[in-house]
Amino acid sequence: MKINILLLGLLLTTFSLFAQKNVPSVFDPDLKIANQIKTDAINNSKVDDYLYLLCDKGGPKLTGSRGILRTDTIAMLEMKKMGLENVRIEKVRTWDRGGWELNKAYMAMTAPYYIPFYPAPVAWTNGTNGLSSGKVYYFSATTKEELAKLNGFYTGKIVLMPDVLQYQINYKPLATIFTDEQLKEMEYQPISTRQKRAGLPTENILLTYQDILQFLRAENAAVIIHETGDFNVPVISFFPYKRGDDYSPCEINITCEHHGLMQRLIENGEEVRMDVEIEVEFRNDENIYIVVGEIKGTDPKLKDELVIIGAHLDGYPMSNGAGDDVTNSVGVLEAMRILKSLDIKPKRTIRMILWNGEEVGLHGSKGYVEKYVKDAEGNKLSEFDKISAYYNADYGPGKFRGISTQSNIALEPLFKAWAQPWHHIGFTTVIHRYFTSTDHIPFDEAGIPAFQFIQDPLEWGRGSHRIMDFADRLVPDNIRHNAIIFAWFAFKTANLEEKLMRKD
Ligand SMILES: [Zn+2]
Repeated sequence: MKINILLLGLLLTTFSLFAQKNVPSVFDPDLKIANQIKTDAINNSKVDDYLYLLCDKGGPKLTGSRGILRTDTIAMLEMKKMGLENVRIEKVRTWDRGGWELNKAYMAMTAPYYIPFYPAPVAWTNGTNGLSSGKVYYFSATTKEELAKLNGFYTGKIVLMPDVLQYQINYKPLATIFTDEQLKEMEYQPISTRQKRAGLPTENILLTYQDILQFLRAENAAVIIHETGDFNVPVISFFPYKRGDDYSPCEINITCEHHGLMQRLIENGEEVRMDVEIEVEFRNDENIYIVVGEIKGTDPKLKDELVIIGAHLDGYPMSNGAGDDVTNSVGVLEAMRILKSLDIKPKRTIRMILWNGEEVGLHGSKGYVEKYVKDAEGNKLSEFDKISAYYNADYGPGKFRGISTQSNIALEPLFKAWAQPWHHIGFTTVIHRYFTSTDHIPFDEAGIPAFQFIQDPLEWGRGSHRIMDFADRLVPDNIRHNAIIFAWFAFKTANLEEKLMRKD
């Protein structure tokens, strides 16, 4: 009997040791910080204030415009106010476009009847030099032979480019969030080699859209009108202008509804006339800026190492860039406010950066990497060995539902453990996809662990890069959620014994 009790005691002790060893998170003191982050995000939120400031007060934020400089300054002041250190607007690169400002845009069909249109002038094209009134010509040539006969015909005229979009009745919901099944599917990634693309036929007698556009630009048409938007909102696009270029006709994007109306009228023999007045300004500002601030590290050995969180503040003309990417810039600001107010004293320095120049070629992040991480020749610079990780968000106003390791499978156990406390708010998933096209890429390409969060799509694709990306379409509670995750990942990365494992 005695022996059995002893045995039982031994078994129980072993079991409890075993249990403790395998559920360390229960005793993880960092979870106290998790609670504090969540409580602060709910009770002391500044998300609504930051949203107003960066979105409505800041205005449209095309890189090099007055709006982005105004918003950079607003963000910098808020960062100083919350007590961040080394707060500054810093020039990281020069660029060859310079800024462009839209000062006036008016457009209407005046015959056969009056309808005002919502124009989206193509950025970095010229204005109309006062009011331009005249007949609208629909460009209908389809072959190079036909084009050759049109030399001189379109000079000084208002030209409607060919039809490229068909309005599609949309039976899908306006906004979506990821289901558990969809998130599960994202975790799976089969091995596959890339398919080679079939080459285009080299000799083609049919005109491409670019052929027509180049022809009309060279002919000096007065106004070139593009069809570039469905769902009643034109898409905004950029002309590849370089500072000092001598250019060009005024180009304007309109919706497929307005384009279709004029096309049908012209094809049925009506004379369509328009009034167009576009006033623009080439600013030729050669500098690309970023807005930087930090919470200093406190560990004697690790304090000079860095964890960076960021999003891009720049956007498009004509709307305020709410979903792309003010929403995530606010998430970054709020995360820093929370960490600062909790006075967490991180081992490594936590730095935030709001990028300019993302929409016009990732200029801010590329400039930063070339200045501090790895230069254009591939030489390692001062921060190459210091940055543990860069966390970016640029997928709209949806909640963070998970994170991608950016094909670094070594990080899966760590990220899964960090996600665990947030399953209850919907942050559950770790995947390995290589996300592209935004500011984490220059870091990734320089060899720094750099990540993008998975976000619910919501209305993604209907707001960004269009003229109606305003704060009304944002969900402040999602930003509060995202700030919690930003703060937590920054805090956990800052306090690890080691830097995050790199891919090579
Ligand atoms: Zn973006």
